[in-house]
Amino acid sequence: MPSYQAAPLSRLIEQFERLPGIGYKSAQRLAYYVLGLSDDEVKQLAESITDAHDKIHYCKVCCNLTDQELCPICRDDARDKSTICVVENPRDVIAMERTHEYHAEYHVLHGVISPLNGVGPDDLCIKELLKRINSGGVNEVIMATNPTVEGEATAMYVSRLLKPLGVKVTRLAYGIPVGGDLEYADEVTLSRALEGRGEI
Ligand SMILES: [Zn+2]
Repeated sequence: MPSYQAAPLSRLIEQFERLPGIGYKSAQRLAYYVLGLSDDEVKQLAESITDAHDKIHYCKVCCNLTDQELCPICRDDARDKSTICVVENPRDVIAMERTHEYHAEYHVLHGVISPLNGVGPDDLCIKELLKRINSGGVNEVIMATNPTVEGEATAMYVSRLLKPLGVKVTRLAYGIPVGGDLEYADEVTLSRALEGRGEI
């Protein structure tokens, strides 16, 4: 780092550079943006970072992020409590909710089993899911992890734990994207689409 740059500015750039998807150029742009903010704006930015970090934690039931004991979905009595959709992260819950087609519960794993990255089953919210099933009232668990190698392996691992508990375990059907072309679909996608075909 050139020494003609003020140390506090270098430190700010370094902090931004640690964020996911931010390279040196973007970090530098963000740091200069912050320098241009008013005192009030900087205070608001800093406060919203510490505030979110202090107040947000896992929902006691589904492990989604919340600032209360239970997240809004778990608090909602109108939702179907007999079905749980298991997803990798909180962003997947938002994606599912955007469809307006799903009116039951979720469970957020916070990742997938990935031995290469040192992530084992104990690092995910799997124990909490087993606890939910054991306390009864759940008929179906939909495994909605991503169709990646790790996502598939995690779905298989979790379903093996759940089946002895007498719950039906299903997997999201994956297939040809809307607007896609059969000719360009890879064989895994095509065979999954065939397996998951439905009556019309
Ligand atoms: Zn919840």
